[in-house]
Amino acid sequence: MSAPTPADRPLAARFAVGRLVCWTLNAGLQRLDGGAMFGVVPKPLWSRRIEPDERNRIPLALRCLLVEHPDGLVLVDTGIGNKEDEKFTGIYGVENAGEAGPTRLEDALSAAGYRPGDVRWVVNSHLHFDHAGGNTARRPDGSVALAFPDATYVMQRRELDFAAHPNERTRASYLPPNFAPVAASGRVRLVDGETEVLPGITLLPTPGHVPYHASVVVREGGETACFLADLVPTAAHLPAPWIMGYDLEPMVTLETKQRVLTRAAREGWQLVFEHDPALARARIAPHPTHGYDAASAVAL
Ligand SMILES: [Zn+2]
Repeated sequence: MSAPTPADRPLAARFAVGRLVCWTLNAGLQRLDGGAMFGVVPKPLWSRRIEPDERNRIPLALRCLLVEHPDGLVLVDTGIGNKEDEKFTGIYGVENAGEAGPTRLEDALSAAGYRPGDVRWVVNSHLHFDHAGGNTARRPDGSVALAFPDATYVMQRRELDFAAHPNERTRASYLPPNFAPVAASGRVRLVDGETEVLPGITLLPTPGHVPYHASVVVREGGETACFLADLVPTAAHLPAPWIMGYDLEPMVTLETKQRVLTRAAREGWQLVFEHDPALARARIAPHPTHGYDAASAVAL
């Protein structure tokens, strides 16, 4: 049996938050080391949730969120993009080439009825290459340009600073071509802490994975959806101690997860998983004794 992959799933799936039309966009997949993805969780446990390949890697979706907001089309996170070489895409098992456009993200946008020039706001949860790689694109002449030329890019000011000043531990994840051209373009809106970017769309600090990581909350008509990003990358990461080895501050992740998931369960939020290879959206039911797990996620 091969591991499930999102490669053959719909490019774009429509859902609603109140009267707001939203889409999950399938921007392809990557493969990361299963041990690194599950931190201290032993392999016999995590491999039952997501099956590893012969190199111990697990398939992970590159799922973005699109919101048809009255103030303009909003894209949350941008996948990996097209700037990396074959060595990189081989190491990370990236499958995100497009058939209609240069990337699968553009194909997915097209499936939702849009072109890159239609996007008015790009919101980054954080600036790791698998979330912000599609912010910019390599043109046929080799130059790097904004992939969404008419958009304003929104990100946490301190995350941009953190990405621009990496250390030995963080450098491999923060690739300047993904964010430096954006910062230099003048098409960036830097925010500090919890910020309502547009009416009903809030960048919510959810630290732990990186210090200035943010999730994106969409509220309309009494309904709420939350794009968790790397706070809970897959439904398998719902249990409190199932925290990625990549997280810089796992004890902070633990606190943030408990706070956000408690609220999500109580208020019936729709949760969007950026990296889950099979499950795009779910609600979670409160659990009386030991918190949440994949079994407490009800697929939407
Ligand atoms: Zn990340």
